[in-house]
Amino acid sequence: MAAAPQEWTLKEKTWEAHCRLQDFYGELEHKARRDNMRELISTMLSHRTTHKDEEKAYFRMFEKFGSWQGIRDAPWEELVEAIASSRFPEPKAANIKKVLTRIYEERGEYNIDFLQDMSTEDAMAWLTSLPGVGLKTATLVLLFNFYKPVMPVDTHVHRVTQRVGLISGKTTAEKAHTLLPDMLPRESKVLYNFHVHFLWHGQRICVWGTPRCWECPLADMCDWYRNNRKAGAGR
Ligand code: SF4
Repeated sequence: MAAAPQEWTLKEKTWEAHCRLQDFYGELEHKARRDNMRELISTMLSHRTTHKDEEKAYFRMFEKFGSWQGIRDAPWEELVEAIASSRFPEPKAANIKKVLTRIYEERGEYNIDFLQDMSTEDAMAWLTSLPGVGLKTATLVLLFNFYKPVMPVDTHVHRVTQRVGLISGKTTAEKAHTLLPDMLPRESKVLYNFHVHFLWHGQRICVWGTPRCWECPLADMCDWYRNNRKAGAGR
């Protein structure tokens, strides 16, 4: 007989949650959505910014300066103006110029394809040594474009995994970047589907404020639901 939800180990619970959301949203093919340099710089632009405004900033930057070299050599004020649809354009412009300078100085071209041949740990260390590139940006680039077995944890993945009880309420997003992949098979396709499905779940059902638990396939295994349903929350 299969174990009841309360008898699952944390790994079993994590796998069960992954399988249920994969059934719910459908398994995704894991394919890079844009080229490697664009993924890195666009992800830097995306911090606290909608996808639409991130794209606007990216295309405006190229329209104005024409190439990575042009962007690197652009006066800071003009780059700030070009990416103004993105939030915090001043530090982002400064960091983008520094990142492009570093890549060119190290590689002699604007290209980060070499990350494919590095170990996951070395690629993470290199990316997070770039100005303005934190764990979330580095894991997004490595998972989405280089198929490395890492887990990006944004605000939605963090909130939903905490509510379900896969990580504790005290676990920071930073710590969750290492805890969550340890509970899953180290396969990029699994981690990619987990990341995207938990992100969608946080945007559509397990939203900020009152989650829509009545629509959720995780309700019977969710700590938040068990602790709050008596009070009528989430219906
Ligand atoms: S049951 Fe409610 S709180 Fe739990 S994961 Fe689903 S929507 Fe979120």
